[in-house]
Amino acid sequence: MKPVIALVGRPNVGKSTLFNRMTKSRDAIVADYAGLTRDRHYGDGRLGRREFIVIDTGGFEPTAETGIVREMARQTRQAVAEADVVIFVVDVRGGISAQDHDIARYLRQTGKPVLLAANKAEGMVGSAHLGEGHELGIGEPLPVSAAHGQGVRSLTELALETCFGSADESDEDEEAEAELLADGSADRPIRLAVAGRPNAGKSTLINTWLGEERLVAFDMPGTTRDAITVPFERNGQRFELIDTAGLRRKGKVFEAIEKFSVVKTLQAIADANVVLLLLDATQGVSDQDAHIAGYILDAGRAVVIAINKWDAVDAYQREQLQRQIEQRLAFLRFAPVLQISALKRQGLGPVWKAISEAWSSATRKLSTPILTRLLHEAVEHQQPKREGAFRPKLRYAHQGGQNPPIIVIHGSSTEHVTDSYKRYLEGRFRAHFKLEGTPLRIELRSGR
Ligand code: GDP
Ligand code: GDP
Repeated sequence: MKPVIALVGRPNVGKSTLFNRMTKSRDAIVADYAGLTRDRHYGDGRLGRREFIVIDTGGFEPTAETGIVREMARQTRQAVAEADVVIFVVDVRGGISAQDHDIARYLRQTGKPVLLAANKAEGMVGSAHLGEGHELGIGEPLPVSAAHGQGVRSLTELALETCFGSADESDEDEEAEAELLADGSADRPIRLAVAGRPNAGKSTLINTWLGEERLVAFDMPGTTRDAITVPFERNGQRFELIDTAGLRRKGKVFEAIEKFSVVKTLQAIADANVVLLLLDATQGVSDQDAHIAGYILDAGRAVVIAINKWDAVDAYQREQLQRQIEQRLAFLRFAPVLQISALKRQGLGPVWKAISEAWSSATRKLSTPILTRLLHEAVEHQQPKREGAFRPKLRYAHQGGQNPPIIVIHGSSTEHVTDSYKRYLEGRFRAHFKLEGTPLRIELRSGR
């Protein structure tokens, strides 16, 4: 499971700037999708092959008891509770304040591993302010400059080592990935997460599924950290259902737990091969739905959208819903949308079909000669735009990964290929290979 890093500190010390640095690579991929909400406080980061989740928190004043400050403090407490390691950010330019001492005291009480990031330290190494940081009792202040990117990498490395020791998992990961590429979807269970906001009907749906005779559930919950999976079989296909945010298994049934946890959702999404995004027809498409959808896209997971409680809405509402999905979830246009009623057991068959198809799209083998031929045809039909002196040349393509499928295109001046041209290529590849229910990544490489 991905480790979770929480960024904590008083307002204006540079948490958001640091957050953007740590999650940058991922955001770049999805920057250009219409409708994708950007005001996120949870992000995926990657260092080498190691992936992690970063939580950015609002301003934090643990002693204040009123209004927005209190609310932010509450959120921060939750973030700290969910984190494996906390990065406490202070501003060495502004100096250490009484508030910083309050936060430090709170963090020491939590017993969580904490790293002290002395931010805005560009050109200030060895300064008196860094020394001041020692007084917080958090350990050695680590000079960083979030704005200039200095020290961020070693800070992140240290945070990850704090979570899991410095053991190098990278070889193992690479082997696992190579293996996945080698035997595709063959006999592996499909890891399935049902995600959606509280009350969307997740536990109703899952219990309906697990109650069906045709679906054989095995009673052996896994035990990795606090993730629990339920293996089962349906139509000869093996699945592993992942406990998701707001859901816990109690004996034989799933129950909604009270608190919705974004981190648990992110971890379940990261852990899944296919995500069933459950919307609540009676509530429309909310910000929270759009956020979850954004995380699914970021993570590159295959996805099927099911609008639940279809039984409870009238024709007008149904039409509204379709429109909302088209607008607010435009970036998941590739995902099939189904209407169901978990309660009345309607429309559930097609969900299984859509899940299997999404998985098979996500793991499809794309042959190099066909990819290259499609690339040439696409370029012939419409050339990439010239930018200044450069006209990108696209020469050949091959598959670089599965779940999500990655198509690597080699050529020259590829950095001048526009996002809209990439989407044009994506559309052509998608149409040919009938890739539905999975994101598709296009990576461009120049040289060689
Ligand atoms: P937050 O309220 O803790 O999320 O802080 P922000 O990330 O919004 O940053 C507050 C201000 O500090 C902004 O004006 C940033 O540009 C600035 N800032 C952030 N990091 C650095 C840094 O490393 N050096 C300097 N000089 N300024 C920074
Ligand atoms: P969860 O928080 O996502 O696990 O949601 P629950 O499964 O606990 O469902 C929340 C509420 O919605 C419960 O009162 C369910 O009975 C109701 N519900 C779930 N599915 C449906 C459905 O298909 N139609 C209607 N009308 N109600 C539903």
